Amino acid sequence: MLAAWLPAPRVLELRELPAPEPAPGEVVVRMRIALTCGTDLKTYRRGHAKLPFGAFGHEGVGEIVAVGEGVEHLRVGQRVTWLPTAPCGTCFTCRRQRYNLCRNLFDAVVLGTYAEYLKINARVARVHVFPLETLSDLRGAFVEPLACVLHAWRMLEPLPGARVCIVGTGAMGYLHLMEARARHCETIVVGRRPERLQLARTLGATETVLATPDPQHWMETVRMLTDGGADVVIEATGAKEIWQLAPDLAAPGGKVLLYSGLAKGETVSILAERWHYDELTILGSFHFTTPDALQALERLHQSEFAVEQLITDTRPLREIVQVFEQLDRGEGIKYAIVP
Ligand SMILES: [Zn+2]
Ligand SMILES: [Zn+2]
Repeated sequence: MLAAWLPAPRVLELRELPAPEPAPGEVVVRMRIALTCGTDLKTYRRGHAKLPFGAFGHEGVGEIVAVGEGVEHLRVGQRVTWLPTAPCGTCFTCRRQRYNLCRNLFDAVVLGTYAEYLKINARVARVHVFPLETLSDLRGAFVEPLACVLHAWRMLEPLPGARVCIVGTGAMGYLHLMEARARHCETIVVGRRPERLQLARTLGATETVLATPDPQHWMETVRMLTDGGADVVIEATGAKEIWQLAPDLAAPGGKVLLYSGLAKGETVSILAERWHYDELTILGSFHFTTPDALQALERLHQSEFAVEQLITDTRPLREIVQVFEQLDRGEGIKYAIVP
């Protein structure tokens, strides 16, 4: 089969590999669609703290073509999506039911969606493969990224009408915008590119603010539009500067979600005075749990989650190298890859 292979940063190749066979408990799918993701781009550029080089890509939908011995809950012919990991169930975080923080999450990770076939390991196959039924391939492939976003919203829980400021106009920023709208929040989206802000308005953002080179300038605009600060600030840029500035966009008593990961070893400094005297809640969020994925499946049946709008282009697998070169140059939000 044809498969993408990433042996080192910015060395992406197409290889001819043997098609996988399922061992007991495993499932093999024929890929129907795969989506590019910010995590993949990070891995491509500099490697990833938790993910190995090699088989590449983690978001997608496929049709089951073979099931291993002992698999009873899934069958050949089903169109499914999946999460790339599943908790071990026995480590100390799993025993505390913090499944997204499982210490062994990345021992059995399903990578390699940019390929004609993909093997889903037994741990994931047992709990994190979801038949799609009526959902389209493209919408089904959004279960994983949307589950990550919904996991964060469990901590935010803003009241309807709350003012939510989202900084960043990558795919994750837009998914946060869709969830904020579904919860009837007012939304202010901040970004550096006018065309991305236009898309935010198409997707229903109440206001958009162009991030000019002097942050004090656009931050003042956000404070004005939110009447002194946002109830919820969501950082979705992956930039250290925005991690540090985000708390200053929050109203007293506000919540600040530092959503995107920074490089390993990075540190940030936050104004202690505001954190303490204005009682800010500063939150991190990582990954997802099974209920997050089930909620994402539900959400993706709602038309207001117009995820199709986040797809820059649909491209064949044999163009995967060019697609990542384009993403590396900052061209495009998310690409759909079809074998
Ligand atoms: Zn992803
Ligand atoms: Zn565990």
